[in-house]
Amino acid sequence: MTDPHIALFPGSFDPPTNGHLDIIRRCAALYDKVYVVVANNVAKHSLFSAEERKDMLERLTGNMPNVTVDIFSGLIVNYAKANHIGVMIRGVRANADFNYEFELALYNKQLDDELEVLFMPTSPKYFMLRSSAIREMAAFGADVSGQVPALVAEALKRRVTPRS
Ligand code: ADP
Repeated sequence: MTDPHIALFPGSFDPPTNGHLDIIRRCAALYDKVYVVVANNVAKHSLFSAEERKDMLERLTGNMPNVTVDIFSGLIVNYAKANHIGVMIRGVRANADFNYEFELALYNKQLDDELEVLFMPTSPKYFMLRSSAIREMAAFGADVSGQVPALVAEALKRRVTPRS
């Protein structure tokens, strides 16, 4: 039995950005419970470990009592089933996101027909934010403090050695 009041927001969050946090806040206002799940994809090289990403997200959502952060490395539909989650939220920025997300939603629907996938458009001020671009900018020593929460900017500064 799935519960339509329980939502899931999965992603890489490598690192979490202001855009992710905006979606999480909006989901937390809509649903009774929100699971933010860090996908631990072993094939994908990440800058921060899954535990580090979880820890950052936990600190960022500490003031949201209905948000739980977790790590998962299997098929996301299985995580949803195990936790009676009724809705999976995906954030969309540009058209390119939409095409990818639309296909992914159809795949997931084939795997689990009970899990609804809903798209939440980004807030206009965050539509340029992309974790991969932020990692790259940080690696070149650019100031990313307007794009990520302060604790993430600090973690990036500690992690990357600026290239010249
Ligand atoms: P990315 O590495 O592309 O930033 P993630 O896998 O961490 O993406 O993203 C998790 C979810 O958050 C996805 O649904 C993605 O589309 C969404 N997302 C990422 N950045 C933003 C943003 N700036 N605004 C809205 N949604 C976003």
